[in-house]
Amino acid sequence: MTTSAATTCTSCVFFEDKAAANAGVCRAHPPVPSSASEKPAAVWPTVKNDDWCGQHTAGRQ
Ligand code: SF4
Repeated sequence: MTTSAATTCTSCVFFEDKAAANAGVCRAHPPVPSSASEKPAAVWPTVKNDDWCGQHTAGRQ
């Protein structure tokens, strides 16, 4: 299956651009616990700008 820019994370309403190297977070679902730091934290999945999934929802330009 091929994707186009119109169906990648950057054009999805759930994508939050973190201005990191071509990446952001997906807010389609609640955050999940992370043990990556000393303090308990909840995190959203990191996704690349050109990632995609079946829940893509258009809304960002
Ligand atoms: S992973 Fe899916 S729902 Fe999340 S930002 Fe990307 S396309 Fe949207």
